[in-house]
Amino acid sequence: MTNTLETCPNFIGGEWLDSNSSGTPVYNPSTGEVIAQCPLGTAADANAAVQAAHAAFPDWMETPPVERARILGRFKMLMEDNFEDIVHCNTREHGKTLVESRGDVKRGMEVIEFALGVPSLLMGEVIENIARGIDCEAIRQPLGVCVGITPFNFPAMVPLWMYPIAIACGNTFVLKPSEKVPLTAMKIAKLLGKAGLPKGVLNIVHGGRDVVDALLTHPKVKAISFVGSTPIAKHIYEIGTKHGKRVQSNGGAKNYVLLMPDADVENSTRGVIEAAFGCAGERCMAGSTAVVVGAAEKTVLPTLIEATKRIKVGPTDRETQPDMGPVITRQHRDRVEELIAVGLKEGAKISADGRGVKVSEAPNGFFLGATILDHVESGMTIAREEVFGPVLNVMHMEDLDAAIELANGSAYGNGASIFTRSGKAAREFKHRVNCGMVGINIGVPASMAWFPFNGWNDSFFGDLHMQGKEGVQFFTQQKVTTSRWFSYGEGDIWYR
Ligand code: NAD
Repeated sequence: MTNTLETCPNFIGGEWLDSNSSGTPVYNPSTGEVIAQCPLGTAADANAAVQAAHAAFPDWMETPPVERARILGRFKMLMEDNFEDIVHCNTREHGKTLVESRGDVKRGMEVIEFALGVPSLLMGEVIENIARGIDCEAIRQPLGVCVGITPFNFPAMVPLWMYPIAIACGNTFVLKPSEKVPLTAMKIAKLLGKAGLPKGVLNIVHGGRDVVDALLTHPKVKAISFVGSTPIAKHIYEIGTKHGKRVQSNGGAKNYVLLMPDADVENSTRGVIEAAFGCAGERCMAGSTAVVVGAAEKTVLPTLIEATKRIKVGPTDRETQPDMGPVITRQHRDRVEELIAVGLKEGAKISADGRGVKVSEAPNGFFLGATILDHVESGMTIAREEVFGPVLNVMHMEDLDAAIELANGSAYGNGASIFTRSGKAAREFKHRVNCGMVGINIGVPASMAWFPFNGWNDSFFGDLHMQGKEGVQFFTQQKVTTSRWFSYGEGDIWYR
């Protein structure tokens, strides 16, 4: 892969326009090289994007849903044709392995597949004779200009959670991708233009806080979809709703994986490794805490530690792929290392130490090896804060009840999993655990496109989640019409 410095123009009203603002570097985390400059944006950029989306709305709203779906169908085919190009772009700016990037893009494409069904999804309800001679119907109409603000960790999938459903429902959209990974979002947006999407229906504005604040308070914006860390998610929800917007706001997480004494050693080890260290732990569904229950500390844990020590870290932007790539920035790597140090200071024991890992073929990459902190206790910083790196906490519990209680003590509520051979234990766990996405012998129980991405507690602020039917509900408002007719028409002559 070459290292030409890319530019990041905004995409406004179908034109690629440079912003007049200063920029922030976009890195290839595998090498530490700067590959692009992303503008930090201005309120004027945000306003121009909203105005373009607002101008495109009346005509797009009138475009029949089936025609909107056809454009999305062509978009999906173009995504397939350009799949590997998107995957490589994603890996280059994010650092995840090619296999993980393929998953990222595929999961996003599934949302397009879901949105293709929009003519059926928009079907309303009707009842004849709600009173004598009176009929009542409820239909769904779009909201207007909708905004998406996305995090760095899924450059393809998270924007695609939002705008395919929004535009399928007849809205226009302004996307503000993460300034750390703007390139994949731009590459994908170009395909939507080629698929025949009218100008102004999807717009991209780059930037940071200033741009977000301008979007959040803009009088022409009707709805905000946000995905990112919990403090920002909460801020977005509070400011957005205060300004009269509909808001769905996904935050961070800390997800527990219970390892029961009867868990299949090989499958549960594989499940936990994938959950904790997949995407270098930079997943809101990362299984960042393994709860070993009773004898699982003798059956599963030793195998898990050995498997963790074998994880090969390396650059992902070349043919030979490692097991795990770098984290997003040098600062983030340093922060994760610092949290490990705090964990040790507070009494955790290190059983696999990824700090200071040497990667000779890419000495400037942002690498951190897979790490296990054992004997973590609930009060420790490392147990409470989202680490968002390749660090697995291990906590020991006596039985299922204690393990469920531990998981339910979390402030977050994205996912939780159990590995067991017992249907009774699995059923009990599923019923009682206090979170929105549950895995049974599945390490990363992230909902697919047809279901809501279902965070609870501090992992979600709002009422209607992204994806699935809730996504359609979020991006539409109902109109209920009650009708009565007194005659058949002028003079009723044709009837007689
Ligand atoms: P982040 O909160 O730093 O940034 C997310 C977005 O908010 C970016 O577009 C960023 O530009 C913007 N932003 C940052 N600071 C802001 C501020 N002060 N005011 C307004 N906007 C601001 O998150 P990140 O580091 O990019 O992503 C990682 C986080 O996202 C993790 O906490 C992870 O758990 C979370 N996440 C959650 C989900 C979910 O569905 N629950 C999915 C993916 C990621």
